[in-house]
Amino acid sequence: MNKNIVVIGAGTMGNGIAHTFAQSGFAVNLVDVKKENLEKALKTITTNLDRIIAKGNLTEAQKNETLANIKTFTNLTDAVANADLIVEAATENLDLKLKIFAQMDELAPENCILATNTSSISITQIAAATKRPEKVIGMHFMNPVPVMKLVEIIKGYSTSKQTFDTIFELSKTLGKEPVEVNDYPGFVANRILMPMINEAIETLYNGVAGVEEIDTVMKLGMAHPMGPLQLADFIGLDVCLAILNVMYDGFKNPKYAPNPLLVNMVMAGKKGVKSGEGFYDYSESKKAEKVSKMFLK
Ligand code: NAD
Repeated sequence: MNKNIVVIGAGTMGNGIAHTFAQSGFAVNLVDVKKENLEKALKTITTNLDRIIAKGNLTEAQKNETLANIKTFTNLTDAVANADLIVEAATENLDLKLKIFAQMDELAPENCILATNTSSISITQIAAATKRPEKVIGMHFMNPVPVMKLVEIIKGYSTSKQTFDTIFELSKTLGKEPVEVNDYPGFVANRILMPMINEAIETLYNGVAGVEEIDTVMKLGMAHPMGPLQLADFIGLDVCLAILNVMYDGFKNPKYAPNPLLVNMVMAGKKGVKSGEGFYDYSESKKAEKVSKMFLK
């Protein structure tokens, strides 16, 4: 694998993926349709690098090298011209991803591998939008990317062994622990996590307990570092809803149907940390205080 990486989407995941590759010495072109999201991503990466310096795990010079490895683009054509690997981390939406993959296939060099960070959408379906399905693969990083060790490596129906081996080994060079997974809705991580988050929301919706009580039970009772409702806020409630809908459609099984409270919150624009409010309030004055109107009974 050569050194030219393109990351598409500079949101929650895209900034972390760009950071991780850049800190490992790769040249990264970070692309977003919104200039302000690129600026915000660079600020987030700088803050996160400062945090690593404060822990004594990075020098100021290494921080500057990492930042120098990242260039930002709003135009896909310029960004992908010399790409060896593109990691797509745009919004979790099937039509959008199909469009981006068809574009990348047109614009990127013939040998370039096209990876997606999708949480749940079929790799096989995304690959079918290209003329190189053997070079399309899932590279599912966890949030926050610079901290979390796991990468699910998802093989689509047509993904070649060569593509799989390249991405598996590359993940190790990033200091990550790759795990091989087959292409079914939600893969492994979200197939198990999202029903738990949905059940926590159902428990709240049924008035069994409040936000903090549910999270406390799972933190203290199950040794989870974070409760499921707080975790949902961190992932993004819109992302959780999109993943549940993909699993619901994919398996045609009502056990994956998103709870109506989750649907309502997303429709009301309450998306969790990224919108300032979800199950908790993240505004400056309240900083992660629970939102009391979530107690339904
Ligand atoms: P996000 O909403 O934070 O960011 C998405 C970004 O994509 C935005 O900045 C948006 O402007 C940009 N975008 C939209 N259309 C684009 C286009 N055509 N070209 C370039 N950029 C475009 O979303 P996120 O949480 O970072 O999720 C990104 C992907 O990662 C999704 O597929 C999601 O399922 C997956 N994922 C998310 C998490 C998580 O915890 N949030 C974890 C693992 C995987």
